[in-house]
Parts: sequence; C-alpha cells; structure tokens
Amino acid sequence: IQESNPMRTINDEIFVYVTKKQKEIDELKKLELFRREFLADVSHEFKTPIFAAQGFIHTLLDGAMEDENVRERFLRKAAKNLDSLDVLVKDLLVLSQMETGDIKMNTAPMDIRLLTHNIFSRLENIAHSREVTLKVKPEDMPEVWVLADMDRIEQVMLNLIENAIKYGKEGGKVVVQFTETKKYIDVAVRDNGPGIPHEHLNRIFERFYRVDKSRSKDIGGTGLGLAIVKHILNAHHTKIAVMSKPDKGTTFSFKLEKAFVHHALENQTEEAL
Ligand code: ADP
Repeated sequence: IQESNPMRTINDEIFVYVTKKQKEIDELKKLELFRREFLADVSHEFKTPIFAAQGFIHTLLDGAMEDENVRERFLRKAAKNLDSLDVLVKDLLVLSQMETGDIKMNTAPMDIRLLTHNIFSRLENIAHSREVTLKVKPEDMPEVWVLADMDRIEQVMLNLIENAIKYGKEGGKVVVQFTETKKYIDVAVRDNGPGIPHEHLNRIFERFYRVDKSRSKDIGGTGLGLAIVKHILNAHHTKIAVMSKPDKGTTFSFKLEKAFVHHALENQTEEAL
C-alpha cells in the first residue's frame, strides 16, 4: 500500500479550489458583460422613439403648429412613438421578471383552443388590414385542455400569432394546429409567408434581434416578442422550435402537458345517452 503524500493532497486541494474560484470569476465576468450589453441595447432602443417624439414636438413648438394639417400629422407621429415606448417598457418588464426568475407561475388546466379564439378576436383588425385568414385545426376538436399558466401562454400565443400575421403573406393564411399525443398537446402556429432566412433562424430568439430592422420597427415590433416566448416556455419546462422555408412559410411549435381533452364525438355520445 502506497503511503499518501500530504503535500500532494494539499496541492490537489489548492488546485481544485483555484479552479472552482476561476470558474466563479468567469461566470461573474460573463454576467457583467451581459448586463453591460443589455444596458447598451436598452438605451439604444429607447433613444429612437424618444428622439422622434422630441423632434415632432419641438418642430411644432418652433412654429409648425400654425399649420393645422402639419399639427395633426406631427402630433399623431409623436403619439405613435410614445406608444411604442410604452410597449417597449412593458415588454422589458416582463422579460426582466422572466430572466431573474422573479415570476410566480400559476399552473392550472386551461382550454388553449378557447384562448386561441379569443386572441383571434383581439387580432381581427390587424388580420383584416392584411387580409389574412385565421384558422384553428382540427376543426372537430372543440376543447383542448392543457396544464399551463394561462396569462403567460396567452402572451406566447399572442406574440406568435401576431408575428405570423405581421410577417406572413398579405392575403395569406395563419393556422394554429393542435395535435394530441399520449401525454402532450403539440401546438403549431403556421403562416405561408416569405419565411425566415436560414442564417437568422437560431438568432431570432435573442432580445432585440430582428431579421429586417426597419420593417419590424415600421410594424411596431420591439424585438422582444420571441425572447419572451422562449422564457415563458422555459418556465413551463418546454422548448420552442422553428421551421421555415423560403417563400413557403414559417412554423413555430412547442408542446404542453395535457390536462384532459374533450372530444366532439364523446360529447355527442353523452348527449345521445
Ligand atoms: P418583433 O417585435 O420585431 O416582431 P420578435 O422577437 O417577435 O420581434 O421577432 C423577431 C424577428 O423574427 C422579427 O423582427 C422578424 O424579423 C422575425 N419573425 C418572427 N416571426 C416571423 C414569421 N412568422 N415570419 C417571418 N419572420 C418572422
């Protein structure tokens, strides 16, 4: 039996300790870098609508107010920029709560099909303005029950469906499809729009990442929608997947734990009895 060498043991322990500390320092450096980048991004995103609103208001105060047409137009533009600032602040708040894990999840059975129909009603105007048809499939599944936090999943569905309408094809179709497996419900939001170029696909979930910056800002996007979606689904222990084909369309999908599913057929039999 070899005698243990006390110096060697101490050296080993020091080595383990230093490696551990080095890892902690690296982790802190990464966090600090993330924090600095985040602050820089946020300040940049704030600047655009603030500068624009300021510009319109100052021009009005400097005399443009005399012209009634200009007055109305500039005031509307200033208001639009302040509205986007408001959306940005709200999105940032949600994202920061999700990122710090500062969020209480209220998981309970919910009907995601009913929720989808409510979201369709909320988005009716924007769908109408782009002549987009909204559909839920399969048609003969009247209720789809999942175990999830309803408010959070509402945000996920709203972001995905709104994106599909905004970035999909004008005059196109947006389909929300539910597929039942043994334990899960697969949810897919599909459009037949121009798609997302391959090289952008794994970056669209990063905060403030946009494929076409000017187009996204024109439509009123904050660049935070998909980052929020990713965090909410993470908190549900599930993941978002994306598939996209140029000129064919894009599908975002994820799965949620099933609560129970009530079928049209079962309903009819019950009633018949
Ligand atoms: P935004 O507020 O800009 O919409 P998101 O995080 O929701 O931010 O989306 C990030 C980017 O991903 C969008 O700017 C857009 O370029 C792209 N994108 C999202 N959904 C779709 C879609 N269904 N079809 C094409 N591009 C999309």
